[in-house]
Amino acid sequence: MDDYDETKDDEVYDATAAAVVELGNTMMDKEGEDLSWTIASGLLAGAVQYWLYSRQPCDDPDCEDCAPYSTAELRQEELLEEVLGYVLSSEYLHSPNDRDVGRA
Ligand SMILES: [Zn+2]
Repeated sequence: MDDYDETKDDEVYDATAAAVVELGNTMMDKEGEDLSWTIASGLLAGAVQYWLYSRQPCDDPDCEDCAPYSTAELRQEELLEEVLGYVLSSEYLHSPNDRDVGRA
């Protein structure tokens, strides 16, 4: 990417993540909490589609920027690694109701 602006990048990242959460809340207000799992899965499906679309390699087979995304398998690995990072850093990963949590 030319003229990389980290501040702008952070702002767009945060705004996009917030917009997705807001969309989920809007959909739940409209469709009801009973469909929260369906809404979350729909958000995830759309996010995966968008992510894969954004990581399509350019037509230069020697492009270094696109090297990590230059095959379907590599894109899949990159996507799963990124998703795992979000999972492990989420405040919602662990729940007090988890079956493997001891209760006092
Ligand atoms: Zn490229």
